[in-house]
Amino acid sequence: MDWACRLLGLSPDFLNSSGVGGGAIQNTASDSALIAAVAARSLYQRDHPEVALGDLVIYTTTQTHSLGLKAGLVLGLSVRVLEVKAEDDFSLRGETLQAALDEDEKLGKKPFILIATVGTTSSGAIDNLPEIQQIVKNHPSLWVHVDAAWAGVALSCPENRQGCHLDTLNEFANSFCTNFHKWGLVNFDASTLWVRDRKHLTDALDVTPPFLRTKHGDAGTVIDYRNWHLALGRRFRSLKLWFVLRSFGAEGFRSYIRKTIALNQEFAAFVEKSDYLSLVTPPSLALTVFRLDPKPKSPDQPALSTESLNNVNRLFYGRISTRDDILLTQTVLNGVHCIRLAVGAARTESVHIQKACDLLHKEAQLTLEAWEQTTLEESH
Ligand SMILES: *Cc1c(COP(=O)(O)O)cnc(C)c1O
Repeated sequence: MDWACRLLGLSPDFLNSSGVGGGAIQNTASDSALIAAVAARSLYQRDHPEVALGDLVIYTTTQTHSLGLKAGLVLGLSVRVLEVKAEDDFSLRGETLQAALDEDEKLGKKPFILIATVGTTSSGAIDNLPEIQQIVKNHPSLWVHVDAAWAGVALSCPENRQGCHLDTLNEFANSFCTNFHKWGLVNFDASTLWVRDRKHLTDALDVTPPFLRTKHGDAGTVIDYRNWHLALGRRFRSLKLWFVLRSFGAEGFRSYIRKTIALNQEFAAFVEKSDYLSLVTPPSLALTVFRLDPKPKSPDQPALSTESLNNVNRLFYGRISTRDDILLTQTVLNGVHCIRLAVGAARTESVHIQKACDLLHKEAQLTLEAWEQTTLEESH
């Protein structure tokens, strides 16, 4: 784990060898967030024994992965979903967090964890960690968990660190998660979770019946990872991670990440040039979110309404998803239907991107023809 920690440029505070913080492989990012929430809850309750469980609140945003709501569901706690705006590229801003904290304080609610995201699922949005850090300074009991399930492995390349606010994350995040089993070349499962203070994990999760006692455990000379997650047993996944990192090497891993980002830039450039497609948000690392949005054929042609465009894009996505030579996913960003293309495999090459561009161009034309046909029929 320490090697992976260094590869991503995480603070030495998170190293297992620090003796204070540390990391452990979990099943999934959902498990990692749940574990962070359990640790945060337990810490909050120890510091505020007078607070009723029913007043605790988990903070997420509208762009947080479903793991936020699930953590609330599993723990029986309420979840407050903070709004993010298209003009901020769906990033959580400090003022939104501040307003929610002020409001909840008046209501007697106790937010104890914020699940922030670096690289949201829908659009690759990166929450504004520097602004969040300023707010959290005055709310030290708010645990900040950074979910970077997809994007975290891009931190291996120094050029991606600033955009992902790595320095800030290193200064103040309580926990951080990324999935090597997504963009990081490791087969499922290998979700890496790091915490700044491992004691918060073990204080929350240590249950040691007599049959689990060992002399090494009692002496504190070994790390008992069973207290760093929910189960007792653990799969031996570190070897899998080790093999990938050993066979690619740090430079090989970085050049793979760089290649996928360059391929995505190639795709984004195609979208920008296209007469039929447009970007919905700026491309994020290896992800492009776009939609069918035809340029007007003449200056006096009326633009399509949001609703019509959404319908056109449903039709467009319907066509794409029946094909067996491309797999794209759809999403909705503040009411706008969009399509996602993510590059994330070692064997993807430029020819595949070109093929995707040709195919989308053709499908876009066919979709528009079909759409014009139906609107023509409707108007008769
Ligand atoms: C994929 C993803 C998740 C969920 O990951 P699991 O490991 O399947 O739980 C969570 N957050 C983000 C940002 C993701 O991209």
